[in-house]
Amino acid sequence: MSAYDFDLFVIGGGSGGVRCGRISAGHGARVAVAEERFWGGTCVNVGCVPKKIMVHAAEYGQWAGEAPAFGWQAEKGAHDWATLVAARDAEVARLNAIYARLLGNAGVTSFNARATFIDPHTLDVGGQRVTAERIVIAVGGRPQRPEIPGAELGLVSDDLFTLKERPRRIVVVGGGYIALEFASLLRGLGPEVDLLYRQPLPLRGMDGDLREAMAEALGHQGIRLHPGQMPARLEKAGEGLRLITEAGLALETDQVMFATGRVPHTDGLGLERAGIAPGRSGCVPVTLEQATTQPHIFAIGDVTDQLNLTPVATAVGHALADTLFGGNARTASFQNVPTAIFTSPPAATVGLSEEVAAAQGPVDVYVTRFTPMRHTISKAARRTMMKLVVSRRTRRVLGAHMLGEDAAEIMQGIAVAIVAGATKEDFDRTIGIHPTAAEEFVTMRTLTRQVG
Ligand code: NDP
Repeated sequence: MSAYDFDLFVIGGGSGGVRCGRISAGHGARVAVAEERFWGGTCVNVGCVPKKIMVHAAEYGQWAGEAPAFGWQAEKGAHDWATLVAARDAEVARLNAIYARLLGNAGVTSFNARATFIDPHTLDVGGQRVTAERIVIAVGGRPQRPEIPGAELGLVSDDLFTLKERPRRIVVVGGGYIALEFASLLRGLGPEVDLLYRQPLPLRGMDGDLREAMAEALGHQGIRLHPGQMPARLEKAGEGLRLITEAGLALETDQVMFATGRVPHTDGLGLERAGIAPGRSGCVPVTLEQATTQPHIFAIGDVTDQLNLTPVATAVGHALADTLFGGNARTASFQNVPTAIFTSPPAATVGLSEEVAAAQGPVDVYVTRFTPMRHTISKAARRTMMKLVVSRRTRRVLGAHMLGEDAAEIMQGIAVAIVAGATKEDFDRTIGIHPTAAEEFVTMRTLTRQVG
């Protein structure tokens, strides 16, 4: 029996921390997890889960609007924000309880408190001194406002989940996942939405065709796009707000939401007392094995600023638990991680963009754009774009990108093929499911262009 109170102490009860703690306990370790704010972390409480419920709400409105084209005597009517909020919050509360129960059932000791370092093996946990042989930092991230005058007048994504009333007008600042998802779901629920981003297109770093298709889709949804704009200041204007950009654009609105990135939540954690020097924006730098500069301290999830996605944090947390206590040293792969942007319609992607793939070698590119069957009837301006990026040398499909109905659901399966190293010919000999949009991924025969 070690002299420490615990074999493993996990700081942070989000997706990564809970998985790591639970699996470690299953391997026989004496484990504690401390969570100061909410079990399940960002994803369950102020991220993926409540966001997706709001996305579903927006989709019902869209379907109601389109149903008459199919013969239904449906009328879209007004949306009741309070009903949605109550249903969403009840589901989040249910999941919170499940997360806490999962730990209890696994024999993990839970602390409803913030843990901070006293020294490399000792933590202050809500006033109590606790020692651990190994420590995992899994404190996640938090939204960041831009450094402009009046930024405190704006909301961040956390605040969108406590809004008691639906705003009439909102300006969303940013061109990443959170900005696009909220701009789109809010527009779907009724408000007038302006979306302001500093690049010519949203989603910097993603495939160019996907970025173009996204801008087009957001525009079709009735979102007013303001590309190439940097926010300069936010000020009160009567009952509402006025956002002014560096180029002099002035937007009058009720609310402004800043979705200008997230930073690791390491303030006050006492990293220096653990002997760990923080990296960029306060992150905890780690090796591929999730090790910090202290051999017994590890970090997982958004606090490491590697690939900030919930399923990545859980995969990494699980691999670390197996490595430390399961006699099975392994790491989770950061290659070919599929991801989706839950806009209306959604976008999803796996593997390399055309731009990145072409920089590594010659590629064949297949792109198709079409109106899905549903919208040939509904007449909604909701087009689909699908794309494969293929290595001309190996014939392997290096990247798949889609914007259109069900993109996220479709891309999960495509990701399996890409992770398994499927070639274009493997895609070609796969029989399609008809009639679907997904079948286009296995029937793209006409080369759109060759690069390199
Ligand atoms: P991102 O880093 O994806 O996007 C931040 C956006 O804000 C970028 O468009 C960036 O512009 C812009 N920006 C940054 N600073 C400023 C500034 N000072 N003024 C104006 N614009 C600025 O962050 P998000 O907050 O959208 O999301 C955080 C992470 O959470 C994502 O990286 C993603 O991994 C994860 N996430 C995943 C989701 C999913 O899987 N569906 C959903 C939500 C979040 P530029 O591009 O020019 O730098």
